Amino acid sequence: MAGENGATAARDVYDVIIIGSGPAGYTAAVYAARANLRTLVLQGEETGGQLMITSDVENYPGFEEGILGPELMEKFEAQARRFGAEMVARNATRLDVSSQPFRVYSDNKEYTGRAIIVATGASAKWLGLENEKRLQGRGVSGCATCDGFFFRGKDVAVAGGGDTAMEEALFLTKYATRVHLLHRRDTFRASKIMQQRVRQHEKITIHPNVAVADVLGENGVEGLVLKDVRSGATERLPVQGFFVAIGHQPNTGIFKGVLEMDAVGYLKTTEYTMTNVPGVFAAGDVVDHRYRQAVTAAGDGCRAAIDAERWLEAQGEVDLTKTMDPGEWGEARTILEGGAENV
Ligand code: NDP
Repeated sequence: MAGENGATAARDVYDVIIIGSGPAGYTAAVYAARANLRTLVLQGEETGGQLMITSDVENYPGFEEGILGPELMEKFEAQARRFGAEMVARNATRLDVSSQPFRVYSDNKEYTGRAIIVATGASAKWLGLENEKRLQGRGVSGCATCDGFFFRGKDVAVAGGGDTAMEEALFLTKYATRVHLLHRRDTFRASKIMQQRVRQHEKITIHPNVAVADVLGENGVEGLVLKDVRSGATERLPVQGFFVAIGHQPNTGIFKGVLEMDAVGYLKTTEYTMTNVPGVFAAGDVVDHRYRQAVTAAGDGCRAAIDAERWLEAQGEVDLTKTMDPGEWGEARTILEGGAENV
């Protein structure tokens, strides 16, 4: 944090500031803090990431009976705290990488760090219905891989017309008796091959030109109200599970113009987990639109923390008061690539 005179005292500078508190952020914190790096996690106001809106997690290794999403995240946080990671439940609103140490702002509050790990995740897009939100984790889901297992022998619906929706519908046929694919148009955005697989699958019924107007059920999903977008007519579809697969949005708004990202907004990494800015690393769903699992995000968080630690070690040999010249990164890269004596 900046001193009263605006200068940054060395004791105020964290070695690593982690932005985000999902599996990637907390795992990075466990590794960084355990490596004796002074670590701050800017958790965001809604701590814990996407698992906070999940009920049972049965595919996180080590919990043979399964564990509730929020409980798992409490454990992640407690483990990071145990090694001395500091936590602040505030949103990061700006990142300034123009000089070292880097500065992360939460409104007017400034935090300074020698390395940054971005683990802000991605948010599933939702239709925006009140009952869709109320029944999240109780039949409404944004992830078939995570929750499909709970719908063995049941009827489910998937909303969306892209590759994710096709993939989720196909995945759900392993468990569900019938999968209804609901799309607001009659042409699909998904790749031809995925469409073909869906069309040919005997367990999948395609409903084109429908919008989901409501999700029914008190304590679990009992059905959907579908609206024909052309005639306006409504009908009820009895299902016990509803998967919303209308895309994800990476949480990278505050990094626009600061860190390199792809057309959709996912951060790009150049060397291992490092972004285009040396000293700024990225982990989890903010870079990964393929796997999106808690365990892969946690693995990414571990990688980013190790990369940050090695990069900081390399930085120890250069002047920390200035931003590293890309040429100097070569030296750090040698260490990243694992000279045994440096590990
Ligand atoms: P997309 O943006 O491709 O598709 C989103 C779908 O959701 C579209 O059909 C869209 O309808 C629909 N949709 C969006 N908003 C709403 C809404 N408010 N109400 C109803 N429907 C809505 O997202 P995906 O997640 O499917 O894919 C993202 C990227 O990842 C793509 O490039 C895809 O190819 C890729 N991907 C690849 C896979 C693979 O290769 N195996 C697997 C999964 C994803 P509309 O078409 O009318 O706009």
